Amino acid sequence: MDERRILVYCRESRDEGGLLRGRIETQREMLLKYAKEMRLGKVVKVITDDDMTGTDFSRLDVVRELAKSGEIDAILLKDSSRLGRNLTESLLFTEFLREVGVELIFESEVYNEDIFPLEAWFHEMRAKEDSRKIRSVVYHKMREGAYLVAPPYGYLREGTKLLPDPECAGVVKEIFRDFLSGASVGEIAGRLNARELPPPSLYKGRRDAKEAWSAAGVRHILENESYTGSRVMKKTVGASFKDKRRLTTSRDERIILENDHEPLVTRADFEKAASRLASSGRGGGEKTPYAGLLFCGGCGGRLILRRKKGRKPVYVCAKYNRCGNSACTAHRVAPEEIESAVRGAAYGAYFLINASDGEEETLPPLEESYEDLAAGQITRAFFEKMRARVKAPARKEAPFDPAGHEEKLAPLLIGRITAYEKGEKGHFYASLEIETRF
Ligand SMILES: [Zn+2]
Repeated sequence: MDERRILVYCRESRDEGGLLRGRIETQREMLLKYAKEMRLGKVVKVITDDDMTGTDFSRLDVVRELAKSGEIDAILLKDSSRLGRNLTESLLFTEFLREVGVELIFESEVYNEDIFPLEAWFHEMRAKEDSRKIRSVVYHKMREGAYLVAPPYGYLREGTKLLPDPECAGVVKEIFRDFLSGASVGEIAGRLNARELPPPSLYKGRRDAKEAWSAAGVRHILENESYTGSRVMKKTVGASFKDKRRLTTSRDERIILENDHEPLVTRADFEKAASRLASSGRGGGEKTPYAGLLFCGGCGGRLILRRKKGRKPVYVCAKYNRCGNSACTAHRVAPEEIESAVRGAAYGAYFLINASDGEEETLPPLEESYEDLAAGQITRAFFEKMRARVKAPARKEAPFDPAGHEEKLAPLLIGRITAYEKGEKGHFYASLEIETRF
């Protein structure tokens, strides 16, 4: 007779949406029935959790305490997605249970130590998808003009409208005028300081205000599209659904409402200033074939090619290169790694283009098979078969060799290459993430 002490843990999964089988009461009854029918042991406690944010792990603390104090021998859950959808945390939690000798029982699947990391990864991908949906609602509100952030220097805010600030709108106009007639950003800063004009942060009374205008401050004004009368939003985004750092967006990722308020500079003059800024350059780092494609996964800034005597050239975070460890970390990537990523994308594009001729067998993505498994549409044995095939596809000799053409292919195929530190994203691999144009 099995006398295991069982904890029943119920959690609603967002995946199921309004489906009845996902309701927490049904789940509770189902699990209790299962425990009884399978004679798993004695149910000593039932915990139900309505909190549907699967990436927050604090709610498992009670379970952790019970397991640690030796009050339970096993935890019964519906399936592995109930453990939360953050890969690292899920793995740490199962590792912890193994250490304290508490068994995991899933009602709708057999727990398998080897497959679990794979499943945890799928759950993480789902959580990511959900956070993307939530953000899209916020951006929709931005598009409708419902949000307004702090007004840029040169404007005052009245309700949800921006009006030129009589005190300093003229300074903004003057900065554009001087820059377009040939003054450098440094010279302009010098002129403003000679007149003892407070820089924007001091003018706004910020606590960390700067004492004087700087070249960077002037550049910042020249780069701000708000002065053309457009409202620019979503200038930064969270790094990921579990990482709260802010990344700078590229222009086409931003939400821009044109003719939103009175311009301080014409669109034509703004563009002229932008192209002059671009040609003057920021210095530091040489032009490379991957310019504009390489980004730092830590700060969202650019990577530059660094050459040092006696060392192989390497791409590093520009911010780190300029300001050191306090700003970002190196995010070092060897040019060969980038080339190999580009070659990979080129192969991918090749097979995508040639998939239509019917020669290549197209396999469903593993996640799709997994969903079928979870929905009970395929057997685990069949899933395992698919998994093996996806993992080791029958490789034909590629008739296309992108080697040596990486530099030409990159601007055609690649949207963005982001360099991460190893392990930074909670993944075990992939220090490079590549976003292709196809
Ligand atoms: Zn960085």
